[in-house]
Amino acid sequence: MNSFSTDMQTDSPLIVIAIGGNSLIKDREHMDVLDQYRAAGETSHHIVPIVKKGYRVLVTHGNGPQVGFVLLRSELARDVIHQVPLANCVADTQGSIGLQIAQTLQNEFLRQGMQQEVVALVTQVVVEEQDPSFGEPSKPIGPFMSEEEARQHEFNDGWVIGEDAGRGWRRLVASPTPLEVIEIAAIRGLLQSGALVIAAGGGGVPVVYKPDGTLRPRPAVIDKDAASCLLACELDAEVFIISTDVDKVALNYGTPEQVNIDRMNVAECRRYLDEGHFAPGSMRPKIESALKFLESGGKEVIITQPHKLHAELHAIDGTHIVP
Ligand code: ADP
Ligand code: MG
Repeated sequence: MNSFSTDMQTDSPLIVIAIGGNSLIKDREHMDVLDQYRAAGETSHHIVPIVKKGYRVLVTHGNGPQVGFVLLRSELARDVIHQVPLANCVADTQGSIGLQIAQTLQNEFLRQGMQQEVVALVTQVVVEEQDPSFGEPSKPIGPFMSEEEARQHEFNDGWVIGEDAGRGWRRLVASPTPLEVIEIAAIRGLLQSGALVIAAGGGGVPVVYKPDGTLRPRPAVIDKDAASCLLACELDAEVFIISTDVDKVALNYGTPEQVNIDRMNVAECRRYLDEGHFAPGSMRPKIESALKFLESGGKEVIITQPHKLHAELHAIDGTHIVP
């Protein structure tokens, strides 16, 4: 086989690429599994050149829309078959989205004549049993609804609901702070062996430690930006790329005064955050994660759309955040 091995150097810089769950859903007419494969394929197509360039890559992904679909499907089928607890729904999406990303990456490496191991790992992430978010759900999941529809679910099904960044109403679930990635040593080992690793999908399956050290799942969806940041810091990543459904971070987002940001430093970014420019549950967790990563020694955060990913990182059209 006339193949080109990337021969990923174990000391080459590590890049964490977080793929947005919302970026895998193009629009309301393109939400099914085949559409998600296509969207994953487009993202994979743009990730391969980054690997080809010689970077080590760890991919993480969100699951906001998809985990809500799985949960809704389970609830709608409750008269026919057992329901699926939320933590298991997260694990289901790690499998399904992990497969879509892994397979489309493998196919893309093959097309580009490269030999590259790709592994999607079921990942558990420890949270605090008493995390305040269990009492105040903030993570939007599933499809968008009208306010009226959302109010009906609130009344009939006990859903916690909220408006999501001017885009419509959604169901909200708890989103505790990620503290520890259970599989971190395995992830490090796989990266060292040269594999491209897909981990912490959907923010990781939320688990708590019991006093005897055993793990138990908890009904929540960790924000993937926070979990990705934790991994990026633990693994000493150099660059943290967040691939989402807007090309740039904006001030006064969604208003006539909207201004897109090409580049900002930590101090500017923190000021904008304090001024309330970034909506909770969507852009805010990305910005908070970006700040945390840069303050822990990361060199750069880039927030952009999947089709703008590029091997020349400085040339990526998006928002670049630097120390
Ligand atoms: P992902 O699945 O990629 O995490 P999110 O929906 O969580 O996507 O976050 C991206 C969304 O953040 C955008 O689609 C946009 O609606 C919203 N958003 C909120 N505030 C801002 C802002 N200041 N600039 C840009 N986008 C913003
Ligand atoms: Mg998000």
